[in-house]
Amino acid sequence: MGNHLMSTYKPLPVSFNKGDGIYVWDKDDNQYLDALCGISVTSLGHNHPAITQAINEQASRLLHTSNLYHIDSQAKLADLLCELSGMEQVFFSNSGAEANEAAIKLARLYGHQNNIDKPEIVVMQDSFHGRTMATLSATGNRKVQAGFEPLVSGFTRAPYNDLEALKAIAENNKNVVAVLVEPVQGEGGIVIPDPGYLSAIRDLCDTNNWLMMLDEIQTGMARSGKMFAFQHEAIKPDVLTLAKALGNGIPVGACLASGKAKNVFQPGNHGSTFGGNPFACHVAFTVTSIMSDEKLAENALARGQQLVDALKQQLADNDDVVDIRNLGLLVGITMKQCCHEVVTIALQHKLLINVTADNVIRLLPPLVINQQQTDKIANKLVKSIKQFTNK
Ligand SMILES: *Cc1c(COP(=O)(O)O)cnc(C)c1O
Repeated sequence: MGNHLMSTYKPLPVSFNKGDGIYVWDKDDNQYLDALCGISVTSLGHNHPAITQAINEQASRLLHTSNLYHIDSQAKLADLLCELSGMEQVFFSNSGAEANEAAIKLARLYGHQNNIDKPEIVVMQDSFHGRTMATLSATGNRKVQAGFEPLVSGFTRAPYNDLEALKAIAENNKNVVAVLVEPVQGEGGIVIPDPGYLSAIRDLCDTNNWLMMLDEIQTGMARSGKMFAFQHEAIKPDVLTLAKALGNGIPVGACLASGKAKNVFQPGNHGSTFGGNPFACHVAFTVTSIMSDEKLAENALARGQQLVDALKQQLADNDDVVDIRNLGLLVGITMKQCCHEVVTIALQHKLLINVTADNVIRLLPPLVINQQQTDKIANKLVKSIKQFTNK
């Protein structure tokens, strides 16, 4: 079984068939602590009763109509997302890459509307924006792009967390219409920029009439300790993309616009058959409502701090551990060496984690974890790292 799958992934030798809260179970009923959430997707935990109820309700009422008709749950979800983010308009997609595709198309159209015929978007080194042609071209990782040339043109690259580089681009490149940036680089290795970085980009965008476009597909939906990571600074982007945790497992993405990005799209400019359908929107509305409780973001802050403190304390004498850092429950541990093997070792300890950028252990635990469960993650991970480093 499985010989007919394209080998786009190299899955670990385990398969889960049940989940509840922060745990999943394999076929032999072994219990695993999920400290990854399917890469920041099931942030409210598995089999959440209110979400299961919303799924059942809508599944037995109406799955799909079409964007040719009004969709009440879509309008309701858009209202809620705008209320929470301060944004003004939403386009719904089925995935993160598609949300970013919408953002890229919006930026180009904005350029043309402002008489810039060859619009360019500034993107960052080590960024990740998806696997479609435009989003892999925007991505700052050669491994994602290699073999798929010719890439989509119209992207200018700058080092992350480097304002001088952006200022130089502003002086030299009059075709730039937007900056697309992650508030924390997720796939790039949980790279957290200096405080004030986003505010400075905001200023640059205002001065140059650029759109500030934030990819919060991984950082959004309370994961960073705020509903959206940009809310750690007193700014608002012009474009904001979301996906991952927006549906807690139901595929749904969103591209939000405000300010000068508002009303750029007109009928006929963009679309999606499935995007924003009644099912996805009803579920995402329930997810977003639950997440909008400030206590959840506060818990992400507190548990993130607890987790990092515990790891720092227990790994203090391990000189293979280079750095431990977090923003809320986006947690990264940089190792001296390539450390993919830690994932397999952790699996033996019944802990689900991930390694990105070859030497960064990434934890994206459920936002609903309590103190005792956080200690459990720390203990299992410390055991795994010690076993890996033999120290
Ligand atoms: C996961 C991710 C994407 C791509 O989302 P898909 O749903 O896999 O298309 C884009 N940007 C960031 C920051 C991500 O973490």
